[in-house]
Amino acid sequence: MRRKPATIAVRSGLNNDEQFGCVVPPIHLSSTYNFKGFNQPRTHDYSRRGNPSRDVVQRTLAELEGGADAIMTNSGMAAIHLLTTALLKPGDLLVAPHDCYGGTYRLFNSLAERGAYRVLFVDQGDSQAVQQALSQQPKLMLIESPSNPLLRVVDIAALCDAAHAAGALTVVDNTFLSPALQQPLALGADLVVHSCTKYLNGHSDVVAGTVIAKDQPLAEQLAWWANNIGVTGAAFDSYLLLRGIRTLSPRIKAAQQNATAIVDYLQHHPLVNKLYYPSLPTHPGHQIACRQQFGFGAMLSFELAGDEALLCRFLAGLQLFTLAESLGGVESLISHAATMTHAGMSAEARAAAGISDNLLRISVGIEDSEDLIADLEQAFQLAGKN
Ligand code: PLP
Repeated sequence: MRRKPATIAVRSGLNNDEQFGCVVPPIHLSSTYNFKGFNQPRTHDYSRRGNPSRDVVQRTLAELEGGADAIMTNSGMAAIHLLTTALLKPGDLLVAPHDCYGGTYRLFNSLAERGAYRVLFVDQGDSQAVQQALSQQPKLMLIESPSNPLLRVVDIAALCDAAHAAGALTVVDNTFLSPALQQPLALGADLVVHSCTKYLNGHSDVVAGTVIAKDQPLAEQLAWWANNIGVTGAAFDSYLLLRGIRTLSPRIKAAQQNATAIVDYLQHHPLVNKLYYPSLPTHPGHQIACRQQFGFGAMLSFELAGDEALLCRFLAGLQLFTLAESLGGVESLISHAATMTHAGMSAEARAAAGISDNLLRISVGIEDSEDLIADLEQAFQLAGKN
């Protein structure tokens, strides 16, 4: 029986130290390794290619997603860049969601402009648009579900089937849920990417990423490229990431419980126009989320009913929600899409993706939910006073 994510997260890589019997895997900072003798290398020769601390977290990441192997990179963007570098040649077509993470959008656009590959951004909730894109025989399709910042949910299994029928490989960016709440490889994807900076590490003190491949040959191809272009993660970051992963399941459960309480509160607030969270039966992806996710996660977004002055007063009034980019840490964060996470998109592209200038995104942390709701309430009261 395949172990559950909570067990894998805690147990993977424990008790493997032959020399001292360390329960927790030690950290290996050496950049290089001596040879046993002439032409007699050991398992590792140089830490860009392989490092024991990175090996152990890669094994854990692969086990968590149910893949053959994982490559840990020095950021989530490096993981995405690694994928396209390894899998796409000039002229090859990449299909990506029109509302993907802003950094991903910028990376694909800038490299497509230089001729590294071609890219087509499509609304993956629109089956006709997807079919039309697939008829152009892409090599790779990226899926991001739930998406950032509107939490749009797409049918991963159906998209993977359609992409495979068209001869494309599929990769799912699973950053917003983590393997504790969604397992894309089991839904048919060939690859998973993460910004490990988010839920996997969970403490906002590491920037890292990973690509996990379902099959060994694909994993080996990616590992070769990761060493070739030098995007592998550092030993200390590997150690911290594994330490963060140990508590993934209880962290995400606590954050999700808080998110549910906050959604209940925001749902009826007069200063909230639109609320985006996949547990809501009115959310267009609700049914799919119930089917393909093990929970609704701890990310939500909403539109404030008011002008920019009200928005400024609301943000200034908050004490327990830090105005900052990123997500998935133990602390609650709030961000303004138009000026922060999605500032890299043109106003037209934002409008096309449904991102209004009043949209705020919350990454719910694991503080006490009563305190979080009281903080929102007092900030709304301050904002509404003028
Ligand atoms: N994918 C998603 C969904 C993200 O939200 C982010 C960052 O916010 C990334 C990828 C990029 O990850 P990183 O910031 O670790 O490079």
